Amino acid sequence: MAKKRILSVDDSPLVRNLIKKFLSMTDDFEVVGEASNGEEAVKLFFQLKPDIVIMDVTMPVKDGLEAAQEILSKEPGTKILLASAMGDDDLLDQALVIGIKHSIQKPFKQAQLISALNKALEE
Ligand SMILES: [Mg+2]
Repeated sequence: MAKKRILSVDDSPLVRNLIKKFLSMTDDFEVVGEASNGEEAVKLFFQLKPDIVIMDVTMPVKDGLEAAQEILSKEPGTKILLASAMGDDDLLDQALVIGIKHSIQKPFKQAQLISALNKALEE
C-alpha cells in the first residue's frame, strides 16, 4: 500500500517535529510538506495535493479555520484533521459548520495521532 501523504500545518516547530517523528515511526504515512501558517498551508495544499492535512488552529497570518475553509471551498472532499487545544468546544462547533469532521486534541500521543488519521482517511 502506498504511504498516505500528509501536509503538516502548525506554527510551532516543536509540534511539527513531533508529528514528523511520530509518522516516521510508521510505514503508512509520510509528511510531504510543512507549513507554519494558514496562508502557506493553502498554497502548499494545492501544490502537493496531500491525502490529508493536519491543521493547527491558532496561527499567525491566517488561522487554521480560515485556511481549511479556503481549501474546502475549492476541494470539498478534502480530509482535514484539526489539531485543537484544550477547551476549544466553540471552535469545534465552528469547524463542523465549515465541514471539518475530524479533530484531535493537543497534546497527543503517537497512537492517538495514527488512529485519528486512519479514522479520517477511512471515511
Ligand atoms: Mg498554533
